[in-house]
Amino acid sequence: MTRGEWQWRSRPTGAMYRQAIGALEATPEWDAYQRLLTHGSECDTCRSVDALGVNRNLPCGEGARLFEEYRQASRPTSA
Ligand SMILES: [Zn+2]
Repeated sequence: MTRGEWQWRSRPTGAMYRQAIGALEATPEWDAYQRLLTHGSECDTCRSVDALGVNRNLPCGEGARLFEEYRQASRPTSA
């Protein structure tokens, strides 16, 4: 049984496609998401919190750029 090697994902378009779990990191969407997460965990601006520990949501050019890249990559029509 090799059933666990594949998983089905649903896209906003409703189209189903099969993707190897091991290949997830190779998708532009995943790649962009990882860059966004990495930036968010390292950037002093994005991590800035107030006295109560609440994120200030400060504007960050790099963070906004990475988010836009992720948004574009996650769009089915971006290709
Ligand atoms: Zn940032």
